Amino acid sequence: MQEKMQPETADLFIIGGGINGCGIARDAAGRGLSVILAEQDDLAQATSSASTKLFHGGLRYLEYFEFRLVREALAEREILLSAMPHIAWPMRFVLPLDPAMRFEGDTPTSRLLGLCMPWLKGSRPAWLIRLGLFLYDHLGGRKILPATSRLDLQDDPAGKALKPYLKKAYEYSDCCVQDARLVVLNARDAAAKGAQILTRTRVTGARRAADHWVISTESAAGPRDYRARALVNAGGPWVGQIIRDTLQIPSTEGVRLVRGSHIVTRRLYDHNRSYFFQGPDGRICFAIPYEEDFTLIGTTDQDHQGAPGEARCTEAERDYLCSFASRYFRQPVRPEDVVWSYSGVRPLYNDGAKSATAATREYVLSLDQNGAPLLNVFGGKITTYRRLAEHALEKLLPFFPGARAPWTAGAALPGGDFATDGYGAEVSALQRDYPFLTPFHARRLIRSYGTEARQILGEARRAGDLGQDFGATLSMAELRWLMTREYARTAGDVIWRRTKLGLRLTEDEVAALETAMVQIRAEGATTSAA
Ligand SMILES: Cc1cc2nc3c(=O)[nH]c(=O)nc-3n(C[C@H](O)[C@H](O)[C@H](O)COP(=O)(O)OP(=O)(O)OC[C@H]3O[C@@H](n4cnc5c(N)ncnc54)[C@H](O)[C@@H]3O)c2cc1C
Repeated sequence: MQEKMQPETADLFIIGGGINGCGIARDAAGRGLSVILAEQDDLAQATSSASTKLFHGGLRYLEYFEFRLVREALAEREILLSAMPHIAWPMRFVLPLDPAMRFEGDTPTSRLLGLCMPWLKGSRPAWLIRLGLFLYDHLGGRKILPATSRLDLQDDPAGKALKPYLKKAYEYSDCCVQDARLVVLNARDAAAKGAQILTRTRVTGARRAADHWVISTESAAGPRDYRARALVNAGGPWVGQIIRDTLQIPSTEGVRLVRGSHIVTRRLYDHNRSYFFQGPDGRICFAIPYEEDFTLIGTTDQDHQGAPGEARCTEAERDYLCSFASRYFRQPVRPEDVVWSYSGVRPLYNDGAKSATAATREYVLSLDQNGAPLLNVFGGKITTYRRLAEHALEKLLPFFPGARAPWTAGAALPGGDFATDGYGAEVSALQRDYPFLTPFHARRLIRSYGTEARQILGEARRAGDLGQDFGATLSMAELRWLMTREYARTAGDVIWRRTKLGLRLTEDEVAALETAMVQIRAEGATTSAA
């Protein structure tokens, strides 16, 4: 490790402020490395705010025999849950048994079944689902999350919202997470351990010098160069483009971009479990309780041709998701019920040799040692970001012999230092100490900030003490926190990534928010300046 840290020089320079870049930054900074991370836009602007928001093993990846990935992800669920009981929580998934359930025709399981039991070709029988769920329960170890159970939909409240032809279901466990908040909390923890987090700073080029990299960046403050002993390319969907265009390194490695869209409707049913639906086309789709008053439905799976930043939910995708859900729900889901939609692209590893359909869901870390080290990160899931970061550090450690040992398993993220099942108690305690908070406000603050909610509320004794009210419980006190502690710069950062209050605020309220943010930026007290 370098002896004396100069402002423009670091051990590690990371391109990309998604979950993988921020996870690696946090891990590395905690091991004593000096770290600079540059994100061209807002933290979690791209794929890491467009996920289905699950810490999950990925039940359907079992059909592709991706056992290593599924085991790692399953084991991670409880480790992550304990580290962030504010932004993540256990979720039960109801999987109705539908006689029309089909496989995607080219999965290894489908092919195997077609070979051994040709009369079952293409169908996904209930016993196979039970077998999959048995593996799911036992592959990764499970202490907190309850095991799979069987439901009679004619008696269980989960059956009420569904069409009467659905009689039986399985119910299994996974977890929900606020993906964009996960990213910002990793960035904050990295910064607390000494990392520099530069948002709205694009890496425009990088070249190898004798034993280090010289990295050129561009931000509102103008161009600036940095030096680093190692470079990490965590550009997500841009990773291949960065290797070839920004770093000018010839490579066949890249990513296959697969777009996934989600729609959000007003709450479709009145319990707190999710549904796992299977379509006759072999695909699966989730319906998940979202932000208390809404339901999240997704996802689609489409090859994406345009620029990664231009992924949008098309009308065809919206209609597909509506009719998918309407197959199952008693009350049809219509396009006019959709209040919001979003879309992101999965960066799936593609080594240039395999066919696109064989693109694996595994992440791949490739180390280029033709001079100062370059680590390229391909793929990855929100669920496996912490392990991915540990593996990335394992690859880089030979270049930093003084770096400390792995430390992130069991280390709470900011605000997550309370019991894994302590959410309800935290909400009650906050309401007791700040009796002017509405129940919704208290729940929202604990879900977003955990124990740090008290730092936002400070000495406030009445709602007026929190300053301007922007609507939907967003106050000036919270806005200042987001701008001075969480790198928020625009109204979009606040209402779609640090919070999801965009679902509740009116256009006029958002305009007032933007005006206030211009004023705060003019005061210069923000965390996001490059
Ligand atoms: C529809 C969908 C649903 C998903 N659901 C789940 C799920 O439920 N659970 C789960 O575990 N995983 C899920 N995933 C996978 C997961 O979301 C992604 O694997 C993960 O977010 C990728 O993170 P990343 O950091 O690699 O990429 P990104 O989040 O895309 O971050 C890369 C960043 O690099 C920045 N960048 C690019 N070029 C430059 C440059 N030149 N200079 C500076 N910055 C640059 C970009 O702006 C971007 O912010 C889902 C993915 C999709 C698409």
